[in-house]
Amino acid sequence: MAFCKVRDILQMGVRDNAAVYAFDAAGLEQIWAVIKGAEKANKPVIVMQYPAAPLVKMYPFEYFAATVKALAEQVSIPVGLHLDHCSDFDMIVDAIRCGFTSVMADGSTLPFEENVKFTSEVVRVAKIFDVDVEGELGHVGVASKTEDYVAAEDGVNVGEGGISADKLYTTAEDAKRFTELVDVASLAVAFGSAHGVYKVTPKLSISRLSEINAVTETPLVLHGGSGIPEDQLVEAFSHGINKFNVGTEFGMLTNELKKESFEKAGRGAEMYVRDGLTDYIAKKVSLCNIKL
Ligand SMILES: [Zn+2]
Repeated sequence: MAFCKVRDILQMGVRDNAAVYAFDAAGLEQIWAVIKGAEKANKPVIVMQYPAAPLVKMYPFEYFAATVKALAEQVSIPVGLHLDHCSDFDMIVDAIRCGFTSVMADGSTLPFEENVKFTSEVVRVAKIFDVDVEGELGHVGVASKTEDYVAAEDGVNVGEGGISADKLYTTAEDAKRFTELVDVASLAVAFGSAHGVYKVTPKLSISRLSEINAVTETPLVLHGGSGIPEDQLVEAFSHGINKFNVGTEFGMLTNELKKESFEKAGRGAEMYVRDGLTDYIAKKVSLCNIKL
C-alpha cells in the first residue's frame, strides 16, 4: 500500500462507512509517529502540513512531502499526504509543485459564490496534476470562542446572545449546490466543532450532518477533532464523516513530551518524544473502522 492518493483512502472510508484519521504534523518526530503509530494499529492515515504553523519555515513543503513519501514506503498501511487549511492560491500551487498530492482550498470565510470561484480555480489547476482538493463550506471556527460552535438547536430561540444553528452550521442546501458546482474530493462542513481547545464540551449536530450527507456523495470532513467525546465521534463517523482532522491535541502532547524528555531521556530526547507520540497515535486511531 504505502504512499496512496487521499481519494483512494477516502473511498475506503465510504466503503466501510468509516473515517480516516488525519493529523497535522510539523517536524520529523511527528511525521514518523503518525505513520508508524498508524502502522502499529493497522489503520490508514493522512499526514497533513498546516501552512500557517511556524515550523513551515524550517520544514518547507518539499522536505515535508519527501519525508512523508520516504517513510510511507517503509510501511504496509495506506499513507496519504495533504496540505491543511490554505486560502492562498499561489501557496497551494507551490505545495503541488513540491509534491503534495492533496490540498485544502479553504474559502470558508468567503461568501458562497466567491468560495465556489476560489475552490474551482484550485480544482482546475489541481486536476492537471491529478491532485485532490478538499473544500470547506460553512465555517469551522475557533474553540476558545464558544459562540463559534455552541448553537441552539435548529429552530429554537435561545434569547439574547444565542446563535441559531442556521447561522453557524453548513446547510444541506448549500452543500448540495457546492458539490454540484465544484468537483472536490472531500468537503469540510460545520456542524458543531471548532479548532483548538474547547472551553465547553462540543455537541455535534448529527441531524445536520445527516441532512448534508443525504444530499451529496462527496466524502465529508470533520475538523476540530481535539476534545470531541468518543461517542459523538462514533456517531459522526457512521453518518458521513470519512476524514477526521486532529491537530491541537497532538501538538500539545508533543510540547509536553519535549519538556519531559530533557529530564527523563537526556541524549535520547528525540526518541523519547517520537515513541510517546507513536503510542498516542496507535491508540488514537482505534476508532477508525476502516478494514485493511
Ligand atoms: Zn481545520
